[in-house]
Amino acid sequence: MSNIQLMSEDLANKIAAGEVVEKTMNVVKELVENAIDANSSFIKIELVDSGVKEIVVTDDGIGMDKEDAVMAFSRHATSKLKSLEDLFNIESLGFRGEALPSIASVSRVNLKTSDGTSGTEVIINGGKIESVNNSDLKQGTKITVRDLFYNTPVRLKYLKNLYTELANIVDYVNKMALSFPNIKFVLINNDKELLNTDGKGNLLKVIHAIYGLDVTKKMIAINGDNKDYKISGYISYPEMARTNRNVITTLVNGRIIRNSDLTKTILDSYHTYVPECKFPIVVLNIEADPYLIDINIHPTKMDIKFSNFDNLKALITEVISNKLSKRTLIPTLEVKDNEEKEKTINLKNIIDNYVINNKENSKEEKEYDNIQEMTLDFAISEEPANLSTSSTDVEVEGVERIKKMYPVGLVHGTYIIAENEDGMFIIDQHAANERINYEKYLKALGTHDNKVIDLLIPIKIELSNNDYIIFKENMHLLEELNFTFEEFGINTILIRSHPYWLPTFNTEEAIRKIIEIIIMKENFDSYKFTEKIAITLACKMSIKANDHITLETMEYLLDTLRKCENPFTCPHGRPTIITYSNYELEKMFKRAMN
Ligand code: ZN
Ligand code: ZN
Repeated sequence: MSNIQLMSEDLANKIAAGEVVEKTMNVVKELVENAIDANSSFIKIELVDSGVKEIVVTDDGIGMDKEDAVMAFSRHATSKLKSLEDLFNIESLGFRGEALPSIASVSRVNLKTSDGTSGTEVIINGGKIESVNNSDLKQGTKITVRDLFYNTPVRLKYLKNLYTELANIVDYVNKMALSFPNIKFVLINNDKELLNTDGKGNLLKVIHAIYGLDVTKKMIAINGDNKDYKISGYISYPEMARTNRNVITTLVNGRIIRNSDLTKTILDSYHTYVPECKFPIVVLNIEADPYLIDINIHPTKMDIKFSNFDNLKALITEVISNKLSKRTLIPTLEVKDNEEKEKTINLKNIIDNYVINNKENSKEEKEYDNIQEMTLDFAISEEPANLSTSSTDVEVEGVERIKKMYPVGLVHGTYIIAENEDGMFIIDQHAANERINYEKYLKALGTHDNKVIDLLIPIKIELSNNDYIIFKENMHLLEELNFTFEEFGINTILIRSHPYWLPTFNTEEAIRKIIEIIIMKENFDSYKFTEKIAITLACKMSIKANDHITLETMEYLLDTLRKCENPFTCPHGRPTIITYSNYELEKMFKRAMN
């Protein structure tokens, strides 16, 4: 006997729901994208308990007539999967259609909608239409989804992730707001407003609504194009970098995409400006002819390929590097009074309150630790007086980026205190020296001249037997760097001359470091290889902390630092210099009363 039975539509819906409605974020996503498709200029998302108890999405879009409102919940009736080109058209977010019946099958739904002529209200419980009535709604759609998974055993599983769910929803709505600055987005969870954009088309104002005023003040507008691509958007000062890569938002023709090559290009443009594990805040809009883009769509992810990616890469790298090289990127220490502090409400507080109000969930607190930094930084602050004419628009070049600084003294044998007419500066002597040496070595390694220093007494370097085998295999790398050497007995080499740029003190240690890099060579390209040498030597050969240097040395260090290509960070991306402006000093000592 065959065990095959026809699946009921209800069962089919519930199975589909398991895939589509996996997370409350996916329900929010479906409803918000429907609202965007309906040409809305206002979308409000109200959640109770991260959406598990209730999700209400209200929009002012074109709405539906009675027939469409009922049809919206029947399977296969609303397939919106459009052609590939359509997907890249801002008008349609495409690729859905069957999610609404799936959502309805595992929750209690109330749909109020009006196309401007007549209003309709549809009530559905567990996928069954209970009633269809007239509604007093004038225009748009208001859909309420309650008690997700009330009729399935999976529900508890979802309750566990309340905090991560909320963080994911906030992240998603943030990204939508960044993609559609012309739509006003409001996001509320348990009566707390988490996002409120003005919908007036100003991207910087959206950034402000998401990240707060401090970040907004440190964003730089970017623009550029070449024959294939046009880019625009905002990049942050390196000091604003976060530990979560979510702060990099990339859009192609108005649609959010994730592409690792693109992210890598952005990060490479910030190379040595930020530490390796940190990510600058970036909103990058790319406009391109659809024929240059190849999309591979899958329900859970979207893969995108660019033709002539090298052109796009060159454009992004040039625009970002150019902007960063024309700024004074010294982090300014700001003194905030308590009032200012209170204006910043972050999501951490919001969720903290939430945890307190929901004791039953307190065992879930651990989950909350996992919430990513970006959403924790979420801030609501006052509208800045004038966003478009922020000080970040001022471009300066070369040594002009830092005025001459005069050393005053040394703290803990580590931090140089210096001053000039603009304020007080604190410089990390190791980081500063490291930056100077790094640029020096990088330049020397790149110039390929054959100047060498012959050693009167050759330097003998003995390796372990296994290191020696690897070294012999990659010996040519040391030759290419202009060393002359010979094998000398067991596992030992004798260095006879070395390139001129190698320091004349600690020479043996420097050579050992280079050999170490050759031995651990992990698929470096030649640039990465020379850069690794430059960074390693720069660190080794620089003044250390607890080195009590003289005022003359400080002065030399500060003057040389100013002339660096990037004087603001060490090769590891740490800051070399921070400042208290005169204004901040006066404010701290109450000489200036705002
Ligand atoms: Zn170092
Ligand atoms: Zn460093």
